[in-house]
Amino acid sequence: MERVCENCAGEDDELVAVHRLYVVPESWDRPGSTTKVEETELWCFSCRSLYPHEPTEAAQEP
Ligand SMILES: [Zn+2]
Repeated sequence: MERVCENCAGEDDELVAVHRLYVVPESWDRPGSTTKVEETELWCFSCRSLYPHEPTEAAQEP
């Protein structure tokens, strides 16, 4: 079964389940913040190196 990255739709053998993080930069009227998406997505290596995310606990299992 072929699996593709849920972020870029690219094929990758090492997809990892992550929580996407939405990072809001600090601005003059509010502090910066980071919002974690509760749903997990499968991301390829390059997306994991490019975009903010948090590994899931499931990713630690064999
Ligand atoms: Zn990707």
